[in-house]
Amino acid sequence: MFVNHVHLLPAATRDDATPDAFLRMADTLGIEGAVCFAPFTKQLPDSIANQNQWLANELSSRPHLVGYGTLDPDKPPRDQVKEITDLGFRGIKLHGPAQKFHLFGDWAREVYALMAEAGLVADFHLGVHWHRLQEYNPLLCDEIAHENPELRMVFEHVGGWAWYRQVLAIVVNNSHYGNHLYGGIASVLDAENQKFWYLGPEGVADCRWQIGADRLIYGLDFPYNQQSQTEQELRIIRNLDWPAEDIDLLLGGNLKNLLGLPQDHPAQQQNDRETP
Ligand SMILES: [Zn+2]
Repeated sequence: MFVNHVHLLPAATRDDATPDAFLRMADTLGIEGAVCFAPFTKQLPDSIANQNQWLANELSSRPHLVGYGTLDPDKPPRDQVKEITDLGFRGIKLHGPAQKFHLFGDWAREVYALMAEAGLVADFHLGVHWHRLQEYNPLLCDEIAHENPELRMVFEHVGGWAWYRQVLAIVVNNSHYGNHLYGGIASVLDAENQKFWYLGPEGVADCRWQIGADRLIYGLDFPYNQQSQTEQELRIIRNLDWPAEDIDLLLGGNLKNLLGLPQDHPAQQQNDRETP
């Protein structure tokens, strides 16, 4: 299993969200590798100046973890995107309502153009999140796709309960550009604790029906989901009435394709080689 959407944080911010805490959980769940997001700037303790350099340093000894950077919306994009590219990261995690930027404002539009040029994946939080709705209305992603037809995007929570049909519409609407927009299946299976993003097995099945099993990427939303929630989600996914190959695509195959990683568990082989 190769999973998306792992937020890593320094121990000073949250000690159950460190790389070691994640890897302890990953080991018990059979997770071979993951895409890990840098902290957002407001999550940094005073002792850490740069969230992307912190993450790069943490990942340097852990080759099965792929990094995505984050941006400071108070600073111009160009140098930040360049730094993220130079650090070897493969994408950027963007959270409009939490980071307080307009999804299609001037700052963000410059970000997308630079990311498309650099070949970085844009991983968006989409779903109600207690900020002005018109600043992060998912339909703005259709504008982003039209302006940046090359930009690869993952729409997390597929917009959540209130918006998932709109988000599927965006994926369908832009499919003539190629297979480069994805639904992020993360935190969408807990009707009690995450009801605003809940899709349920039926909603996830709608996603597969509308856009195809090759457009769905499972993510943990660690540390907001810890071991027991993750086990529960995986139970639900493995019980879906889908062909086994479609479940494999959801649980890592599509993400590896998106990142150009080989499908034959390279990290596992590398670990095997390192074992005396
Ligand atoms: Zn997240």
